Amino acid sequence: MMTRREFLVVSSASLAASGLPLSTEQNASRPWYETMRRCGQLNLNERDPESLDVASWIDYWASLKLDALLLNGGGIVAFYPTSVPYHHRSEFLGSRDLFGELATATRARGMRLVARMDCNYAYGDALAAHPEWFERNRDGSPRPHGESPWLFKTCMFSPYFTEQMPAIYREIGARYPDDGFFTNGWPSTGDLTVCHCVNCQRVYRDEVGGTPPDQVDAASPLYRKYYDVFMTRVLDVWRQWQSVVTEKRPDSVYVGNLGGGIRTVKNVKRLGDVARWFNADHQGRSGDTPVWDCAQQGRVARPVMNGRTITNVTGAYSNSRVTWRHVTKSPAETTMWMAQTTASGMVPWFHWLGGAPEDTRWKEVGRSFFTWLAANEPHFRNRRSIADIAVLYPQRTIAFYRSGARPGSWRGAERAQTAEYLQGMYYALLDGRFLFDFVHEDDLSAETLAPYRALVIPNAAYLPDAACDAIRAFVRGGGSLLATFETSRYGEWGDPRADLALADVLGASVAGDPAGPTANSYVRIESRHPLLAGFDGTSLLPGPESRLPVRAMSSASAPLTVVPYYPAFPPEMVFPRTPRTNDPAVLLHESGRSRVVYFPGDVDRTFWRSGNTDLAQLLQNAVRWVMGSEPPRVSLDGDGVVEAFAWATEPGYALHLLNYTNPNMTRGFIKRFYAIGAQRVEFAVAADRRITSVRALRAGHDLRFTQTGARVRFEVPGVADYEVVALR
Ligand SMILES: [Zn+2]
Repeated sequence: MMTRREFLVVSSASLAASGLPLSTEQNASRPWYETMRRCGQLNLNERDPESLDVASWIDYWASLKLDALLLNGGGIVAFYPTSVPYHHRSEFLGSRDLFGELATATRARGMRLVARMDCNYAYGDALAAHPEWFERNRDGSPRPHGESPWLFKTCMFSPYFTEQMPAIYREIGARYPDDGFFTNGWPSTGDLTVCHCVNCQRVYRDEVGGTPPDQVDAASPLYRKYYDVFMTRVLDVWRQWQSVVTEKRPDSVYVGNLGGGIRTVKNVKRLGDVARWFNADHQGRSGDTPVWDCAQQGRVARPVMNGRTITNVTGAYSNSRVTWRHVTKSPAETTMWMAQTTASGMVPWFHWLGGAPEDTRWKEVGRSFFTWLAANEPHFRNRRSIADIAVLYPQRTIAFYRSGARPGSWRGAERAQTAEYLQGMYYALLDGRFLFDFVHEDDLSAETLAPYRALVIPNAAYLPDAACDAIRAFVRGGGSLLATFETSRYGEWGDPRADLALADVLGASVAGDPAGPTANSYVRIESRHPLLAGFDGTSLLPGPESRLPVRAMSSASAPLTVVPYYPAFPPEMVFPRTPRTNDPAVLLHESGRSRVVYFPGDVDRTFWRSGNTDLAQLLQNAVRWVMGSEPPRVSLDGDGVVEAFAWATEPGYALHLLNYTNPNMTRGFIKRFYAIGAQRVEFAVAADRRITSVRALRAGHDLRFTQTGARVRFEVPGVADYEVVALR
């Protein structure tokens, strides 16, 4: 039986998802975290209780106009005088109740308080008293922490998670006015762990049917079974904790630690189904990760949360491949990370480590961005995206795929490679200035896809039957499609199918195993077509590194054919052995409003790896062609590499422009911004909506505009880092 409050929460959430206006009363009935816009976190260390100046810290966080502040409660270390056995009290706590002082001060300034917990490690005294709480290696030894070896890894399948952590939540909930609990590091979206403790041995015997492999191996029946058992346990623990923290306070919340950007293993759709609040612990980038890594995080989380709260943590300290916890990251990089957070529809969560910083440069970076957000808050209250292109987020392919299903297992290092198909398509979409959303492969219902004119699928090789059926229904209903390489060739765990499950939709039938990867293969232009716009002066284009041999079915046309590999070295040997084939390098067909482009090669991944501009052009031409002759809902014309998001907001509409034009776009950190010039925008609003003002919120001035019917035209004079144009 649903209580009245639950009913109101459910109905306001579905109203929010549908984009219908919420009345004030309905807003008031939503739990506090659903309307929150700004979060901050001070991550305390065990020594902080000796000297932490509560008042000055709370002053700082209040100056950011936070809705919620995260402060350490307990788990590894208790920052209050706990009575729970084996809950380690900070050795520096003395007679203080630091969490209590912080809680009182936080609430006194009108901020919500979320207790930051850690369920992943405990001390040796707990190990001695409760050996069953801890993860074990195959030889039975416990797993000490790599840098702090006096701490031992706890096991999710043990009572530590179902008894000890709930006891701690209940103690904190009974003593302090906190509004929620967040667990650092758990459950994450990354690889599964394999433990050999007594609890796990029982799980393996009774539920899995054997010990699962240590590494990702979707070909293994044990791995498949374990994946499901593992996900079920995560969700059971999550639900239990949500129920424990709401025993006394119904609007309290449990927040798990997710994130991972586009490189996820655990099913984010299933996580999103239980999460009331999705926190992405995606604090920064390192190495040659592209700058848009944070916006991608927002795109992954949005479709699984459907309008419910998503936060993203920004590390103000210098986290990268080389990490420094106690110095400030480049302010420009930090600002761009927070800008991507808000542009992609997430709530920023600004994070510093340690209560006695010697470096305070980060403070103003957060304050300046957050006070600007607060001053313009209504425009960040999004109702729905108004992008007209959906990109299928190929989660299983990223998690499990091995090209050509070669046997063997691997660890996460290869995951950056399985994400390259998506990464190449993404870059081509940014470069072509398209507005798009991600959709999750487990939610491709007619309702989910209805707002989109086209679905783009970057090599979703491992695709469940249900997803294939939904894609077929979308295309039959008039939707357009762009797909690449081995899309739908395998079932969800990688079992090869006799043919592409989408053979009828893509107009192609498999004619052999994938060829490649090889350089120096080509595609030949056989006939002129809008897909080949801009390629005057050549009959040859670069070919993809890998391709799936296919036979064209029925009426599909193939204006590009395959020129197979020939040697690239030495120059004397560089001539085509087979200059012409009938093998299609692209297949196109049209039926009513629906247009389908299928590239049997990995054009997207090859673009990402090579940077070849012809391949970007080819992908962009393909997107334009599948979108048909109707103009896009939002068009954006000007110089620079930008990522754009368009939202229907509570007051009207907002266009978010992120300027990535920077020598550090693909290798961090951004040191400074390079402003781009005028951006000419055409923005479609609702047919009956008369726009009365267009304002650049970051520049802080109104823009001139014209409106013809539903189309509003204006020019943004320039963008330094980030601009938000509010239409109302
Ligand atoms: Zn275990």
